[in-house]
Amino acid sequence: MTDAIDQANSIAELERSTAIRAITSRQKGQSLTHCLECGDRIPEARRHAVPGCELCITCQEWTERGGGFWP
Ligand SMILES: [Zn+2]
Repeated sequence: MTDAIDQANSIAELERSTAIRAITSRQKGQSLTHCLECGDRIPEARRHAVPGCELCITCQEWTERGGGFWP
């Protein structure tokens, strides 16, 4: 079953590099595909609803509660 693990690892690797590319190459005002804080995928509906959003809902709520950025 190492194939499944390798596949999972390469998917995770791909997601990370996609997130980094999105952060470094995005246009101003364009939403990120991945959260700037936790790296989770930001749902497409949220990216459309909040142009330029950089955080997932969890991190957004956390910062709005006054949590600031993660230590
Ligand atoms: Zn997040």
